[in-house]
Amino acid sequence: MRNFSIYIHIPFCEVKCGYCDFFSVARGYEDFDLQKQYVDELIREIETRSEPYQGKKIHTLFFGGGTPSLLESKLLEKIIQTLSKYFMWSSETEFTMEANPKTVSLEKLKIIRSLGVNRLSMGVQSFEDRFLKVLGRIHSGDEAKKTIADAYQAGFEKVNFDMIMALPGQTFEDRKKDLETALSFHPQHLSAYHLTIEAGTAFEKIYGKSVGAIHELPLPSEDVGVQCLTWTRDRLRAAGLPPYEISNFAKPGFECRHNQNYWEYGEYLGCGAGAASFLKMNQLDASSKKTFAVRQTNHRDLKKYISGDWLGFSEEITHKMGMGEYCMLALRTREGVNTQTFEALFGQEFYQTYEKYLKKYQDQHFLIKNGHHFTLTEQGILYADTIVSDFI
Ligand code: SF4
Repeated sequence: MRNFSIYIHIPFCEVKCGYCDFFSVARGYEDFDLQKQYVDELIREIETRSEPYQGKKIHTLFFGGGTPSLLESKLLEKIIQTLSKYFMWSSETEFTMEANPKTVSLEKLKIIRSLGVNRLSMGVQSFEDRFLKVLGRIHSGDEAKKTIADAYQAGFEKVNFDMIMALPGQTFEDRKKDLETALSFHPQHLSAYHLTIEAGTAFEKIYGKSVGAIHELPLPSEDVGVQCLTWTRDRLRAAGLPPYEISNFAKPGFECRHNQNYWEYGEYLGCGAGAASFLKMNQLDASSKKTFAVRQTNHRDLKKYISGDWLGFSEEITHKMGMGEYCMLALRTREGVNTQTFEALFGQEFYQTYEKYLKKYQDQHFLIKNGHHFTLTEQGILYADTIVSDFI
């Protein structure tokens, strides 16, 4: 049986960070004050959409955003109480909440912990004020350090820091310093992303491809980006946090089970504006043989969502699409593609299906076979985007 996770989207932020393309509204916009109405509608969506899964045991819970930690404690409690009416989980179930350092005091963190949240994922991004300012973050490096200490004091044993590398104006030495600061807090989990310029963000206007002028704080060159990536992987491995996905590092046993469920092509129900769900056909329409699953994405529009118009987009995932997506997700992980899982999911032999690409990338030493697993080599990881696109 595949795992089933729940994702809840809280689309409110104090300020919109320049690089962020997640759906959220910032303070100062009219929609920001609709938090109570939003939670009422979110509860209605959970109640309605949980019907086929009543009493189901859930693998993981994840409150993301936006900034869930910004929501009033009593509203968070209301959502969690509603979920507990329809789904089953225990204190052992991984329950993550994302937090922005500026939005949580020690007292608030204690409340969040008392609501059953047992893993905190903190958007630190950098400990250097000059980079935080460029990114548009609302907190300082010292505030991030204090919030990390507060999280441990509030009883969180699992704490993740999100960090971004290859920031505007950042050198390789700057990057090393930033990561060493993170390591001084002995994290069990660290997500280290390479900055990407997403469409529709403020950064696109400054750093997008069509922008000719060089900004006073240019993006690091590709060589520096690769140097940062390679060094980060080696340094975190040496610190006892080996990579278990291209951008994710953890002490053994502290891997994020929620994200692992995404990468293993497990099911998830996502509620809230902009949230996505991935539901297998046996839950939806057992008569459909060609369709493997359905991906549903809610409107990225707060007013529409609050009016009860939740679903924005629904896409049928055929077996062929499913095979490509599974490979794309699995190849980014340490386990790689498990040929037995592939065959159980799609009823088709893995090697025969992708023989051409498997041969090509094994010859180039970008891909390696280990028992039932095909994984990217360290060299292959540098070309991951190109390689996985062939499988899609
Ligand atoms: S706090 Fe997080 S979700 Fe909100 S704008 Fe910044 S990066 Fe995006």
